[in-house]
Amino acid sequence: MSGAPLLARAGLLRGAAALIAGRGGGRARRGGGGMAAAFSSSPAAAAAAGGGAGAESGGKPIIRGVCFDMDGTLTVPVIDFALMRRKGDILDVINSWPEEERARAYAAIAEIEAAALADMKLMPGLHELCEALDAAGVPRGLITRNVKSSVEYFHSNHLTSLNLSPFEPAISRECAFPYKPSPAALLHVAESWGVAPSEVVMVGDSPKDDIVCGNRAGALTVLLDVDGRHSAGGAGELSGEAAPTHVVASMGELRRLLLERYRLLPPLRDQRAAAGAE
Ligand SMILES: [Mg+2]
Repeated sequence: MSGAPLLARAGLLRGAAALIAGRGGGRARRGGGGMAAAFSSSPAAAAAAGGGAGAESGGKPIIRGVCFDMDGTLTVPVIDFALMRRKGDILDVINSWPEEERARAYAAIAEIEAAALADMKLMPGLHELCEALDAAGVPRGLITRNVKSSVEYFHSNHLTSLNLSPFEPAISRECAFPYKPSPAALLHVAESWGVAPSEVVMVGDSPKDDIVCGNRAGALTVLLDVDGRHSAGGAGELSGEAAPTHVVASMGELRRLLLERYRLLPPLRDQRAAAGAE
């Protein structure tokens, strides 16, 4: 990467942060509750921590669908969302502005997101995780606060070359659903698969967006904490609705967790269709 585009991107980020900081706003942090159960926790402890995947009697809990956040989860983070949200949730703040300012702010964000596409990289280990889910017939979905064009770029530039099918459904900012942490999009994804939310896993790198969304939907939740920043923050950040069922440090760890602790099965209707075809 040349120096000039990097500086331009850094300038865009500073501009976005200043944009938010200048307007104030913000959202109260959710609190209370216990610390998240780690990957080393037992399935029973995991269920108690807020998951509740459908358990077979005497067997491992069943998972029939996995839904992912995109930025910082499926892809290596390029935009510093933590910086952008330090003074409040950027979309909440902008949506409270008058229409003209709102349009200008969304145009600035679109510019940042478009610049970030050039630097988009797949999260290490994602290829193998997708192959494991596909082999088990477990559908993969995606819910992002990013725009549809970024999702399309991700699919066409990063998945196709690996012979992986797109994430389906893929819910982006333009979709009619309220954005995370609302559980609406995740409930829609589960319904589209014909799977109970309790047999779905929501995976993401944001406790307050992805984990709260999954917990509110009644799904299992996995926090991807690559640099350990959330785990190191103590019980406060990962408590209450933001307490994940599991915390993993990599996609490889997530793959092992799902394969070792859970039984991966297709949605029931797919299982029945396969049985009927035999
Ligand atoms: Mg994210």
